[in-house]
Amino acid sequence: MSQHFSGSLFMVAAPSGAGKSTLVNALLAQEPSIKLSISTTTRQPRPGEQHGREYFFTTAEDFRKRADQGEFLEWAEVHGNYYGTSRIFVEEQMKAGTDILLEIDWQGARQVKKQFPQANGIFILPPSFAALEERLHKRGQDEVHVINRRLLAAGGEIAHAPEFEYVIINQEFPVALSELSAIVRSARCRFAQQFARNAKLMSELGIHADHAE
Ligand code: 5GP
Repeated sequence: MSQHFSGSLFMVAAPSGAGKSTLVNALLAQEPSIKLSISTTTRQPRPGEQHGREYFFTTAEDFRKRADQGEFLEWAEVHGNYYGTSRIFVEEQMKAGTDILLEIDWQGARQVKKQFPQANGIFILPPSFAALEERLHKRGQDEVHVINRRLLAAGGEIAHAPEFEYVIINQEFPVALSELSAIVRSARCRFAQQFARNAKLMSELGIHADHAE
């Protein structure tokens, strides 16, 4: 797999209730050039969610068929439902040099990292377990048994934080957002990204492709 994409690939993972979606949405509002990958899922839409905006919703049968056909760059079963990332979307955006952000779990992040080793893994942690519990209840979008299942799963997700390059502790929202933004900016300054984006300048300065690994 070529390392010379000018765009950066970000994978953001967190246990449910760590505030991941709020942080990601605020980042995307600040950085509209980053494209969010819309996943396909078999879970039921929550109130207010729209097909094609939060997710593409489908049946388990359809999902499995598409997974078998290789439509997903990665897919995983999370909290009893399937979730997958469109391979075509990611590959096309990478070729076009667009920055992409994937909101995926640790299983998906592992699969993506194998195919795109330069992907930047970011893990969002809550400031305490109690805060996680409180946020899940306040969200009020899920039934109690769903919340309890997610709390149990949170521990499992958190155990995989060490597999990610970056960790953000979401205690103060503005601080967490500025950290996320700093990660994005630093990724854009990585040698390989700068090299791919500024090929003419690099050549003028006598810097060659074999330096950009
Ligand atoms: P939720 O149902 O709360 O929107 O998401 C549940 C979990 O599924 C979250 O950890 C989220 O990051 C993960 N998830 C969402 N989309 C994908 C995907 O395309 N692939 C993988 N592996 N996980 C996903």
